[in-house]
Amino acid sequence: MNHHDDVISTDLLIVGGGPAGLATAIELAKQFEKKGEKRRILLIEKGNTIGAHILSGAVIMPEIFQELLSPEAFEALPFDSAVSTDVTVKLNEATELTLPFHPPYMNNTGNQIASLAEITRYLAKIAQEKGVEIYTGFAVDSMLYDDAGNVIGVKTKDTGLNQQGEKQKNYQEGSRVHAKITILAEGTRGNLTKQVIKKFNLDAGKQPQIYSLGVKEIWQVPEGNIQAGAVYHTFGYPLQDKSEFGGGFIYGLSNNRVALGLVVGLDYADPRFDPHAAMQIWKTHPYVSKFLEGGKILEFGAKTLPEGGWNAMPRYYDNNLLIVGDSAGFLSTARLKGIHLAIGSGIYAAQSAVEALANNDTSKEQLATYETRVNNSFIHQELYPIRNMRAVMQEGMLLGGLKMGIQLLRGGKCKFVPPTHPDAQTTQTLSDYSGIPFHQRFGDKLEWDKKLTFDKVTGVFHSKAMHDEHQPPHLVINDPEQFQRSNIEEYGLAEEAFCPAEVYELHVDRKSGAKSLRLHPENCVHCKTCDIKSPNGGITWTPPYGGDGPEYSYM
Ligand SMILES: Cc1cc2nc3c(=O)[nH]c(=O)nc-3n(C[C@H](O)[C@H](O)[C@H](O)COP(=O)(O)OP(=O)(O)OC[C@H]3O[C@@H](n4cnc5c(N)ncnc54)[C@H](O)[C@@H]3O)c2cc1C
Ligand code: SF4
Repeated sequence: MNHHDDVISTDLLIVGGGPAGLATAIELAKQFEKKGEKRRILLIEKGNTIGAHILSGAVIMPEIFQELLSPEAFEALPFDSAVSTDVTVKLNEATELTLPFHPPYMNNTGNQIASLAEITRYLAKIAQEKGVEIYTGFAVDSMLYDDAGNVIGVKTKDTGLNQQGEKQKNYQEGSRVHAKITILAEGTRGNLTKQVIKKFNLDAGKQPQIYSLGVKEIWQVPEGNIQAGAVYHTFGYPLQDKSEFGGGFIYGLSNNRVALGLVVGLDYADPRFDPHAAMQIWKTHPYVSKFLEGGKILEFGAKTLPEGGWNAMPRYYDNNLLIVGDSAGFLSTARLKGIHLAIGSGIYAAQSAVEALANNDTSKEQLATYETRVNNSFIHQELYPIRNMRAVMQEGMLLGGLKMGIQLLRGGKCKFVPPTHPDAQTTQTLSDYSGIPFHQRFGDKLEWDKKLTFDKVTGVFHSKAMHDEHQPPHLVINDPEQFQRSNIEEYGLAEEAFCPAEVYELHVDRKSGAKSLRLHPENCVHCKTCDIKSPNGGITWTPPYGGDGPEYSYM
């Protein structure tokens, strides 16, 4: 893609090269191939390469790939290991209890452990072989609309600006890409998706989307520590029942590697809660540390996932517009899985797009066939019966678990489902929070030994995150006066605690005691937590220059 082109025109434009975007691209190419039609399909990805910004668990339900790929291509999918052991464990501070059963939806028989980065690289190759044009290293930061306000494409980010936003000698305006249909596949908390949801009121009548943050590491360990194919999920320590939802995952990979992480609901209240520190503390539990003994960390990363489920999904189509995957909230919290749903949504969106082009009608009325396809598919069957799951789990394992059981028996119906709130609103101020603050709960455990546990900056080093410093900060403080008065003074800069990459630093002047924010955007791993959790909706995450960000290789 050339920055000097005035306008690039394409039939179909996909933003985001994750499983949802790539499945859309492959299904589009397949459908046109079948019809003998030549159409231009263009996919833009902000990561330097496909997979560089991809982070998942990942235990994958493989069946949906059979719908997408030829039998040969399906057989050649680069899964790492078939699930062999599958255990759920309740952790207490120093002990553990292995459950004699799988919680509902957590059975992984027949599933595959994989690196999602590897899977996406493989899917990208297939898409390219089918004629899809893939452009990596281009961040898209704006939607383009016609005079009537309908989506007509996107614009990639301008480059060559200094920190103040002034044009430099190397300034280049971003490319304008016009498309008959634009498909947003940006993953969790898409920055464009956020814009169109607001503009077209796509979340009218829906519950607010709520999120979790997953902090993940990959380790090389001595032979015998873990078996490839082993799956362990934990709940309990170090999270507090009722006030902190989430749990850990430990997956055995081939060649004596372990993928492990802690996923924490962002609806917690303590402004000092630190998900990165919680993950480090979780690793010190004897049940977890035994897998890592004698090993070394290979990679670190973090990413949010949308957990609101069926009731929080916005309308995922409008005139000339489709939204797929995590951007639309296609994720099952009960399973901690979204990859099969991302791929399913991509397939159905592509089929509806092909039909719309054939009818020469890309209006929202026509593109509503995407919703019909979803409603008639396994996606509805899977997500609808657990539509109230995440909401009731706010009440803790006992009461929430009981209500979840009732829902399972009643097709998802349940009385007394508590309302959910945007995660930014659940954080309490320092003075309002009445629980024991995070740093007091774990005071003696917040020292990192740099062998088993690491500080955030070491984590960033292992994410290989890089950002060109000659650009305006991509983390925008929406209202600096309110940020100072409320986010810093009242909440004590909750951003410093929740950001897993030490981007936000509370600076206290030694003489005057005045508090201020120091920003380190170059550390950002693009997890989007600040866009979601910042009190008062204080931060907007915007994409930095294309190619900037983490360089994940096996996340
Ligand atoms: C910690 C964790 C564990 C998980 N475990 C599992 C699991 O075990 N099994 C499972 O099935 N699911 C799991 N999931 C969920 C799963 O990873 C997601 O549901 C899935 O990746 C969603 O796919 P997607 O294509 O919608 O988004 P993504 O995979 O996030 O891909 C989106 C892509 O779009 C790109 N992009 C975003 N914005 C822009 C932009 N403005 N311009 C250009 N490019 C852009 C991104 O760089 C990225 O490459 C997990 C998620 C997390 C965070
Ligand atoms: S700045 Fe925001 S998006 Fe970047 S790592 Fe920190 S919380 Fe995540």
